[in-house]
Amino acid sequence: AYADRVAAKDGEIKAFLKLDREQALKAAEAADARRAAGKPLSDYDGIPVGIKDCIVAEGETCSCASKILAPVKSPYDSTAVARLRAQGFIPFGRLNMDEFAMGSSCENSAFQKTANPCDVSRVPGGSSGGSAACVAASFAPAALGSDTGGSIRQPAAFCGIVGLKPTYGRVSRYGLVAFASSLDQIGPMTHDALDAGILLDAIAGGDPMDSTSLPNPAGGFADAVRNSSGSLKGMKIGLPKEYFTGSGLASGVETITQQAIEKVRSLGAELVEVSLPHTRYAVAVYYIIATAEASANLARFDGIRYGDRKEGRDLVDTYFKTRGEGFGDEVKRRILLGTYVLSSGYYDAYYLRAQKVRTLIRRDFEEAYKRCDLMLTPVTPTVAFKFGEKTSDPLQMYLSDIFTIALNLSGNCGISVPAGRDPETGMPVGIQFLAPALDEARLLQVTDTFM
Ligand code: GLN
Repeated sequence: AYADRVAAKDGEIKAFLKLDREQALKAAEAADARRAAGKPLSDYDGIPVGIKDCIVAEGETCSCASKILAPVKSPYDSTAVARLRAQGFIPFGRLNMDEFAMGSSCENSAFQKTANPCDVSRVPGGSSGGSAACVAASFAPAALGSDTGGSIRQPAAFCGIVGLKPTYGRVSRYGLVAFASSLDQIGPMTHDALDAGILLDAIAGGDPMDSTSLPNPAGGFADAVRNSSGSLKGMKIGLPKEYFTGSGLASGVETITQQAIEKVRSLGAELVEVSLPHTRYAVAVYYIIATAEASANLARFDGIRYGDRKEGRDLVDTYFKTRGEGFGDEVKRRILLGTYVLSSGYYDAYYLRAQKVRTLIRRDFEEAYKRCDLMLTPVTPTVAFKFGEKTSDPLQMYLSDIFTIALNLSGNCGISVPAGRDPETGMPVGIQFLAPALDEARLLQVTDTFM
């Protein structure tokens, strides 16, 4: 049924870069046969899960929506995909994204523009825009995305679904094409909290192939949702004042966020004002650290080891041609920025200083969590914008990440939850719950209660 829906509707939405229908149907038949024989791999055997194109699956393309990796097929499964398969989930196609996960609208894909299923004249958000559109259009019940500075939560908010950024290290990054290694996390994009818990149960946990994955026991997320009390009594929810005053919130987003605050109060939560004073540096710090790490991570795409090679006169000319033609403008901009902030003479002034401010941002969160259990904030300053509205001004695009990126810098977990519709445009508005590290179970319970 899902494959049929994709065939009928994805011509308009363009969420998928690729879907091998025959292969998906075969996997579904195999799951049916296991079920008939009384031997399903799990309760979820046969359920399709869309996969963002930067999370590799054996035998599948992993272009990261970049020309430079267009011809590459992965020889192995990422840990997340291997764990899904082991429980019978069917990795379902390759989903569009901003090139190498750099962007907030999917318009940086080298191949196609994905439309927002709620209004096809608008972007689905990014960089996991294909994953959000896939779930919102019911092309699959769930999808995996990746979040470096908001790329799960922002498109989830734009498309009216749930998007969870787990704690850094909760999900193995083995087989996730690295953008900014100290910020990247894979996470679930779903219709509700229970599905997010089911998917997180499936993919979370330590992994010898990723030394930054956490050894802490993971699991029980779906059960936490099933057993949630349905009330927020006794819960202290912080409202970080920097996220509300003078933060440039569009009026529709503000209205829905205020309604969400009232709803949380009526469900029994106690609201407290908290402060994250270094929030105003978050965008600057992120775009130094993320670009620095990206410039190092993307150095491997040289046309020799991977991908599409454009032969030049000699080796250096081959590098120039391959990278010059293979990378899009935004990726080049980030490599230039990252190389600059790491270069001798500027390293101390930019990169080192950004790392210090990152520590202050992390401490802000630690201080705030002394006064509350969770925080509630907006996800994005506006609803999904129209195609082309922000492409001419990269800085404007970067500023739209203001509410999501501090979380990645802190390493904690957060979730974007549908909260209502903008009265003016009818587009979905999300709110964000933020929690201390490893508190995903509570985050999912609160999400379930709120929805
Ligand atoms: N929009 C942010 C960026 O362009 C976040 C991207 C992400 O989380 N992958 O870097």
